[in-house]
Amino acid sequence: MDNNPTWIEVDLDAIRNNIRLMAEISRKPVMAVVKGYAYGHGPVPVSRAALEAGARWLCVSRIDEALCLRDAGIDAPIIVLATTMPDKAAQAAELDLSLVCYDAQMAREMSAVASAAGKTLKVHAKFDTGMARLGVAKEDALEFVRLLRSLPGLQVVGAMTHYALADEPEKNTTREQAACFAEILEILQTAGLRPPLAHAANSAAALNFPESTFDMIRPGISIYGLNPSPESPLPSGFKPALTWKARLASIKTIPARHGIGYNYRYTTTSSERIGICPAGYADGLRRKLNANQLLIGGKKVPVVGTVCMDQLMFKLDQVPEARLGDEIVLIGRQGEASIRAEDIAEAWGTTNYEVVTCLGHRVPRFFLGAR
Ligand SMILES: *Cc1c(COP(=O)(O)O)cnc(C)c1O
Repeated sequence: MDNNPTWIEVDLDAIRNNIRLMAEISRKPVMAVVKGYAYGHGPVPVSRAALEAGARWLCVSRIDEALCLRDAGIDAPIIVLATTMPDKAAQAAELDLSLVCYDAQMAREMSAVASAAGKTLKVHAKFDTGMARLGVAKEDALEFVRLLRSLPGLQVVGAMTHYALADEPEKNTTREQAACFAEILEILQTAGLRPPLAHAANSAAALNFPESTFDMIRPGISIYGLNPSPESPLPSGFKPALTWKARLASIKTIPARHGIGYNYRYTTTSSERIGICPAGYADGLRRKLNANQLLIGGKKVPVVGTVCMDQLMFKLDQVPEARLGDEIVLIGRQGEASIRAEDIAEAWGTTNYEVVTCLGHRVPRFFLGAR
């Protein structure tokens, strides 16, 4: 860590703690969602920690993300949640991955590719119960599962849906979607075709709507210790896993009425002490003006001017004792002060999901508590 200008620390004990809490609260087995580079945290160590804490499955969105886990020697069940091109069906079967299938043509093509390779591909049938994204409608559910079952080279292991408003706990939509999914499962059950694993609930659904969870839950954001939304904060006990740090790269005194950085978007009023932090928008910050802060010397200080690709400037007047090489915190705690991903999300007008998922892959990750 010490020989990097900026780095991320991920606390794997926090990940294990959060996985266990989700299992306890929902009383359901956990499929840990590690898509998007494990929400920016780093997929391989996070996946290992999740499995150590009892997660049964891993969820990714792209087959390449699954490949990265298999390459690391992780042999747990993995589902690729989003679209996979059918010509990858043989490779997926070879790696013992499950793919999501939500379309008859897609099913036929996956079947053709898998059976031509002499393989059996595990699929989860996806149903649209109201999200209006991927999935087969309730009216077509039985016919779709019959088709999947009739096609060679496919094995139907799961049924799934996804909730649109689970992080808005005051709304009834999640209950309606869960009821629709329950009806679909009932129809399949009656026909003797209910797949063994039915899953639906993201973090917010698992926390807010116990009736929405079915056989397993699919939490993402909560296992990183981050709130599903401002209206749906995590209960106590969860711990944020990620801290983003940097080293103070330079200190200078800029005279009064002098512009700072590109396009002089900040001008000093008096002689000001300015610090340079070696992290920029290529690392996941944003150029939004007057929207960034950082911690140094246990104090929260404002970023001034535009964030550059690889560095930024900030006010150092409040921290006269600061020296080159001092630790800066961009996300996390320092002494009594803290900047949460949620605080940054609010300042940028986005979600904590986007803040952490967009952290640059070039920032080295260090994993605390690895076993
Ligand atoms: C991302 C995702 C999840 C996890 O959602 P969180 O809100 O992060 O808990 C669950 N299911 C599907 C299909 C997803 O795409």
